[in-house]
Amino acid sequence: MSYEEILTRYEPVIGLETHVELGTATKMFCGCKTDFGAEPNTQVCPVCLALPGALPVMNRAAIEATIRIGLALNCDIAEWCRMARKNYFYPDMPKNFQTSQYDEPLCVDGYVDVEVDGVTHRIGIERVHIEEDTGKTLHVGGATGRIHGATESLVDYNRAGIPLVEIVTKPVPGLGGLAPEIAKAYVAELRDIIRSLGVSDVRMEQGSMRCDVNTSLNRPGEEWGTRTETKNVNSLRSVERAVRSEIIRQSAILDDGGKIHQETRHFHEDRGDTSPGRSKETATDYRYFPEPDLVPIAPDPAWVATLKAALPEKPSAKRARLREEWGITELDMQSVANAGAVEIIEETIAAGASPAGARKWWMGELARRANELNVELTAVGATPAQVAALQKLVDEGKLNDKLARTVLEGVVAGEGDPAEVMAARGLEVVNDTGALTAAVDEAIAANPDIAAKIRDGKIAAAGALVGAVMKTTRGQADAKTVRELLLERLGVS
Ligand code: ADP
Ligand code: MG
Ligand code: ZN
Repeated sequence: MSYEEILTRYEPVIGLETHVELGTATKMFCGCKTDFGAEPNTQVCPVCLALPGALPVMNRAAIEATIRIGLALNCDIAEWCRMARKNYFYPDMPKNFQTSQYDEPLCVDGYVDVEVDGVTHRIGIERVHIEEDTGKTLHVGGATGRIHGATESLVDYNRAGIPLVEIVTKPVPGLGGLAPEIAKAYVAELRDIIRSLGVSDVRMEQGSMRCDVNTSLNRPGEEWGTRTETKNVNSLRSVERAVRSEIIRQSAILDDGGKIHQETRHFHEDRGDTSPGRSKETATDYRYFPEPDLVPIAPDPAWVATLKAALPEKPSAKRARLREEWGITELDMQSVANAGAVEIIEETIAAGASPAGARKWWMGELARRANELNVELTAVGATPAQVAALQKLVDEGKLNDKLARTVLEGVVAGEGDPAEVMAARGLEVVNDTGALTAAVDEAIAANPDIAAKIRDGKIAAAGALVGAVMKTTRGQADAKTVRELLLERLGVS
């Protein structure tokens, strides 16, 4: 059954729950640090380990960040709300409950506008609430790293208590076959908005942004169907694939007269489909109740108004403005945004590079390196000023493309600014005609057959001699100059 055919008989409804780990210096309810990758169980204290008598204190920076996210998503901010206990057992959660929010979320009733193929779709936001992350469990001794077959499990509580913000959409009907693509575009837009606020690094591949994707199908004219919830979808591409594969899977069950059960499902990156997780517990299973150890959150409306007035330019507006300024296509702008490179390219241009030059380095060499190291572009080892200086050296003809790459390697390795690396490594384009002429004559003398061909008019053969000269000058000659000089010496220019 083709996907298009399925969509003539069923209407999908989607809903997304997104968790974002805030980049606060300390945890949600204690002063423990939140540095990523620290030795296990070194960023813990009596509060986040839930030792007897320890009491939580709210992190103001986390509340502020949540309010700013809510405002950027056009939400109303509650004037008074409380945290709630969500009770369940899991070994990575020392309190045996998660401090979360339930019926009194901090932000409610907003929306995000998402553009796909020139059409804007408004995605309603049900609520934005604050909660805390759990620790991490590591299952060892087995083949798969999963609990099945493991001989022991290790728990690291460093992550326990790091502030998490959950953003829940309203159910979104009416998207038809575009539902998978719009789901992906929504998550990308949400990521860009949160990144623009500077409150999280929102990296899906590192888990600081995670998505649960709800999907249901109904026949036209009927009520919405039962949803499944695909957990922890960890890339934009997977968001799209998870919705699509659920539409296909559910339609086959409904076609056979079967029923969809409300359950959580796991998305498999490798196969591109989902498998069942647990049958979904309901809210009453969690025995939610208002958290007695924390005071209510009652943000001063004047403070909220100040935060609202100070929100940054919307990413969609900014992208449109920069696309114009940089003279690039929508698609190119999209890949810049997806690489998280908008700000850094902007800064590089401000430091004197042309838009094309700035984009070339950050989206090419440096993006590749950031990928290899699995770090943000900001942590790749080159600054906007250095990249602008490098491009200037290229524009001035002091470096060719190949040499510039070598210089950039030196910069990234911490050898200093481009000019310093050039000096230290003795890299510069050889433009000294005397030296070049000698190298050209040498190449002609060493390859008389090729030289004869060129003299006879086979200009295409010149490449081989240019290559020979580039080799003797260790890539430091300007290929165009070498070519001109060569043809001149052979009398065919
Ligand atoms: P839970 O914690 O049980 O997952 P939430 O309220 O946090 O419940 O999230 C439910 C998500 O599922 C929301 O994004 C909501 O919009 C979405 N949703 C609700 N009903 C449907 C449906 N029939 N089809 C698809 N998504 C739905
Ligand atoms: Mg959920
Ligand atoms: Zn702590």
